[in-house]
Amino acid sequence: MSSDMTNSPRPKSPDSVDQDQFLTILSREEAMARFDAALFPRALPSEQRRLADAQGCVLAQDIVAPIDVPPFDRSNVDGFAVRAADLSKAGEAAPVRVMLNDEVIACGTAPLRPVLSGTATSIATGGPLPRGADAVVMVEHTNPAGAGAIEIRRAASPGQFVSYAGSDIARGETLLRAGTMIGSREIGMCAACGISEVLVTRRPQVAVLSTGDELVQPGTPLRPAEIYDTNGAIVTAAVNENGGEAMFLGAVADDEEALEAAMRKALATCDMLVLSGGTSKGAGDVSHRIIARLGKPGIIAHGVALKPGKPLCLAVCDGKPVIILPGFPTSAMFTFHDMIVPVLRRMAGLPPRSDAKVTAKVPVRIASELGRTEFVMISLVEGADGLIAYPSGKGSGAITSFAQADGFLKIDALADQLPAGSEAEVTLFTPHVRVPDLVIVGSHCIGLDLVAAPLARAGLMVRSIAVGSLGGLAAARRGECDFAPIHLFDEATESYNAPFLMAGLELVPGWRRMQGIVFRAGDARFEGLDAQAAVRAALADAACIMVNRNQGAGTRILIDRLLGEARPDGYWNQPRSHNAVAAAVAQHRADWGMTIAPVAHAAGLGFIPLAEEHYDFALVTARKQRPAVQAFLQALASEESRAALEGAGFRPA
Ligand code: AMP
Ligand code: MG
Repeated sequence: MSSDMTNSPRPKSPDSVDQDQFLTILSREEAMARFDAALFPRALPSEQRRLADAQGCVLAQDIVAPIDVPPFDRSNVDGFAVRAADLSKAGEAAPVRVMLNDEVIACGTAPLRPVLSGTATSIATGGPLPRGADAVVMVEHTNPAGAGAIEIRRAASPGQFVSYAGSDIARGETLLRAGTMIGSREIGMCAACGISEVLVTRRPQVAVLSTGDELVQPGTPLRPAEIYDTNGAIVTAAVNENGGEAMFLGAVADDEEALEAAMRKALATCDMLVLSGGTSKGAGDVSHRIIARLGKPGIIAHGVALKPGKPLCLAVCDGKPVIILPGFPTSAMFTFHDMIVPVLRRMAGLPPRSDAKVTAKVPVRIASELGRTEFVMISLVEGADGLIAYPSGKGSGAITSFAQADGFLKIDALADQLPAGSEAEVTLFTPHVRVPDLVIVGSHCIGLDLVAAPLARAGLMVRSIAVGSLGGLAAARRGECDFAPIHLFDEATESYNAPFLMAGLELVPGWRRMQGIVFRAGDARFEGLDAQAAVRAALADAACIMVNRNQGAGTRILIDRLLGEARPDGYWNQPRSHNAVAAAVAQHRADWGMTIAPVAHAAGLGFIPLAEEHYDFALVTARKQRPAVQAFLQALASEESRAALEGAGFRPA
């Protein structure tokens, strides 16, 4: 099947969908075109809503102003309604005396007496102008002048301080257009015209279901091998943000019967069904089989040449869209925003979302798979000459790849990479980019969050991008960040960090992190021993499994020194973080490893101290005078930060 839209400009009608499509990967454009063709045009049901309940709804028809606003000519000031012609010669030196009519026009008072030549009527701001009057003079420009009279010290032109009937909103004017999302301003305009009910497009009811035996709702403790249902919450919120009304139905186990029952129930009451998970063809992935039984025409696309998001499944069952998002949270969110939001907005009567775009330079080469349109989530920072787009390195299984990104860039299906230094167009997730005041790129440590806390309180935006020590140094050398936090051990000099600095960078001491052996408290093989003895004990027990660290980590050097030539079971398990080591030991996948004291303690593990690691900052000297850099240096030196670091188990340098 061709994925080239120029060869097949008209999408196939859904009725001609045949079996081969289930096996064919469609281009993103073709999948969207087929989905659209199966869903639109369609009637959008509307409903009458009380104005107070219409916030966030979309107007289903134009609103024409039924009255003039203001409904009468009214005074804009407190003063006197006059005839301008009476005051043509008035001035400070030649005040004009007029007689006061026997009434005071307050707001809400209909005037009874005309203003005849030579008279004036006292009027409040908002009061209706009496017959005969054509201007208002401010009370400040008048003096009392005996019983029932005033002197006016200024001339007035006709219309002075008068708002004419209909000058705000004219009867018959189109006040609001169909398709407008009703917010506080629209509600205000309707209220001003006395409109109490509006016809709105009924918000599509969208059922949201998560699938997977491993899913647990937030608020419930996790048992082994379980994870929290992330997609349920984020899809629900994203539906509500885009004109739908989400009904979250929870997570269903990977059980065909239970899932089919849940899907049928959802479709009986909702206009659209969004599932996540179970769409790749792994064990237990059953939802696409069920869809085939739920209504015509069924699956429109299963597999889209899109990254993230390849396993996306789009279906229409008896007129209702049914979507299975990929299980990985960033894949789920990205495909939802890219391919489902346009459909949802159309069903909600909303105009297409307009995405703001900026141009930014890509600092590193980004590899891409040929044949799939690839979207790369990025964080923006300000470089020496323009914006820089950092790709999120965490991949589509990580929620933060999407949730902490500023936007994304697109790599064409026909490109196998985006070279370092390319200019790319970045589509923003929110129309306003806020470039961070302080950019920290390198190795992450929870101590960093403690030091940055006062900056955040002062309204400074700090962005920390975790790319490891070496990645941070490279960014610092290119001038893309203010600080690169590093903990690099130089074997030749047996010292930390300083030997790695290049020209243009200076070292700011950070804090020390005690590294040592972690084990499960109470494990008699390690309890009470020093590090060397503990490793000897581990090596003596063939059943003992270790967890290592990645090549290049300072901690790895310490481990290799302790092990010498030994390569015990688990040596090749080499996670990239202190937390992963602690998790492996806590979950009995390994019996010992090396991590830092705060991480071991937070995981409730036993700890044998060995050597301190130096976590310092490479500061880009050219950026030292920036206010946010100075604020960070001050925070680092402050008593507050030092106390916080010590409290968390670090030793400030
Ligand atoms: P699946 O498509 O069901 O094979 O899921 C692919 C991956 O996404 C697995 O690691 C799932 O645990 C994960 N996943 C699926 N659904 C969710 C969800 N609702 N929240 C978080 N992760 C999920
Ligand atoms: Mg699953």
